[in-house]
Amino acid sequence: MAEHPEKSFPYHGGCLCGAVRYEVAEIEPAMGHCHCSMCRKFHGAAFATFGEAKAENFRWTAGEHLLKAYIAPNGTTRQFCSQCGSSMTFEPSGSDGSLVEFALGTLESDIPQRPDVHIYTAYKADWYEITDELPQFGEGRNK
Ligand SMILES: [Zn+2]
Ligand SMILES: [Zn+2]
Repeated sequence: MAEHPEKSFPYHGGCLCGAVRYEVAEIEPAMGHCHCSMCRKFHGAAFATFGEAKAENFRWTAGEHLLKAYIAPNGTTRQFCSQCGSSMTFEPSGSDGSLVEFALGTLESDIPQRPDVHIYTAYKADWYEITDELPQFGEGRNK
């Protein structure tokens, strides 16, 4: 009988209070800065950056029961730590759950990839100026 080697989850992160923790085996290459007004409010910051992982490459290691979800009128679901309020995940409306988008600011590990794009710049905060050379899209990626 073939033995499956234990899958490695080299990346880890957690919320501000430390109660909610997760591990990631592999982070997908696409990684955008989102300037939509909902991400801005969810993070309390100029923009949000989410990492993506296939569901089988992401697992909660502590505090999953402390996650609360906010479902917006447009059907998007955002999870946060109910103890400290840290933004944790984003799920688009109609998602089949095969991808997990997690707030990259909660990651504690170094990673090889870098954000590659700014999205939803049509909704960017006027007080924030984009000063890097990454492509900018007014709506979603490539739109
Ligand atoms: Zn917390
Ligand atoms: Zn957004």
